[in-house]
Amino acid sequence: MDEDKTSPIAGEEAKKVPAEPYELKTEEDKKEEVKQDVKKMTDKIVNHTHCQMCAKAIPAEDRFCSDACKDNHQMMVKKRKKSTYMFLGIMVVLFLFMLFGTKILSFLGGGQ
Ligand SMILES: [Zn+2]
Repeated sequence: MDEDKTSPIAGEEAKKVPAEPYELKTEEDKKEEVKQDVKKMTDKIVNHTHCQMCAKAIPAEDRFCSDACKDNHQMMVKKRKKSTYMFLGIMVVLFLFMLFGTKILSFLGGGQ
């Protein structure tokens, strides 16, 4: 029954033949290399931030990748501020109308 099966030893021998004969690094070397790569990568990931305008990766101490992005961001912030003030203004006007609407209308209507 067992004669037809290929010898398990032959199978083991086949596994030992390196897939890449020119590769001289051992498994341990490879593991160490991967560890170093991961460390390098994590260093990069930890010590960086993203441009607040275009989200490009930049050094942690910077806020923008370029002057153009800085300008664009400042313009955006100004616009946002402006629309916030406009919104507040509209709210105030609506609030005043709610409080004194009838008085204002009667005043505009010539005091009926
Ligand atoms: Zn940018």
